[in-house]
Amino acid sequence: MEKEAYRVLLYYKFVTVENPEEYAEEHLTFCKDLGLRGRILIAEEGINGTVSGTVEQTQKYMDTMHADPRFKDMVFKIDESDGHAFKKMHVRHRDELVTLRLGEEDTDPTQETAEFLEPKEFYEELQRDDVVVLDARNDYEYDLGHFRGAIRPDIRSFRELPEWVRENKDKLEGKRVLTYCTGGIRCEKFTGWLKKEGIDDVGQLHGGIVTYGQDPEVKGELWDGQCYVFDERISVPINQVKHVVVGRDYFTGEPCERYVNCANPECNEQIIMSEESEHFYMRSCSHECRVHPRNRYAIEHKMTDEEIDEKLQAIEEQNHMNKQAQ
Ligand SMILES: [Zn+2]
Repeated sequence: MEKEAYRVLLYYKFVTVENPEEYAEEHLTFCKDLGLRGRILIAEEGINGTVSGTVEQTQKYMDTMHADPRFKDMVFKIDESDGHAFKKMHVRHRDELVTLRLGEEDTDPTQETAEFLEPKEFYEELQRDDVVVLDARNDYEYDLGHFRGAIRPDIRSFRELPEWVRENKDKLEGKRVLTYCTGGIRCEKFTGWLKKEGIDDVGQLHGGIVTYGQDPEVKGELWDGQCYVFDERISVPINQVKHVVVGRDYFTGEPCERYVNCANPECNEQIIMSEESEHFYMRSCSHECRVHPRNRYAIEHKMTDEEIDEKLQAIEEQNHMNKQAQ
């Protein structure tokens, strides 16, 4: 029997949704009936979602959404997939589609946002000497892949970005600034705020990295590494011409693109590490995480206290050798 084809959809639309709480409930029932899985946020300012399903299910979803006047021109980014990219179906009501928590300074992307650059235009501007490229995503997303030469804000969540900009204004002021994110939604919101902050000459990548990777002309060129995605795939390829690995193993510094969660359930930090490092370091980011009583690596491997002690000792010796080598 032939394996059924699946798709992952990524989409958003800033448009007023009346009674968002009620709509979220209805929408959840609708998605579950279709057999979709994924994560959708509904706010008064619109919808932001990513779902997986069979070709038939996802097609029905897109057709139904396009029949709704509010979402008739919503753009769906479509990725082929071997199966579902999520375990469950969630539709949640939120105050914001992307969490910036600007409060009084909140921006309305339907009123104010930066100039949209199509992939070809973005590609051409990337090669200019007088532009600054700013990654609008989190540090762990950047670390797996990014546009060549882009600035990496050291932020763990999107809401930290405005503060980072204020502290690093000298890097951007008086310059042509290009911004990008995964699917485009974060930039739509962020660049409106950026303009209010007095950084005027801004261009944002229309449709985000995912659209750039699928563009038949640019084919993802000038992108290095993989693109981090918020589903079970963790990453997707972008550059169809040449793949350059930029990810680095957290422990050894060797080229690596494998993200795993720290085995300490209370830490759960995403760390890039090879399988070898996973076994050597008990898939844990620190000594504290390794000795945590609920360390998932130790539990999965049914490790005895002696075995854990042996590992800890080997790690200590390795760290000692690393120090001497410096
Ligand atoms: Zn940890």
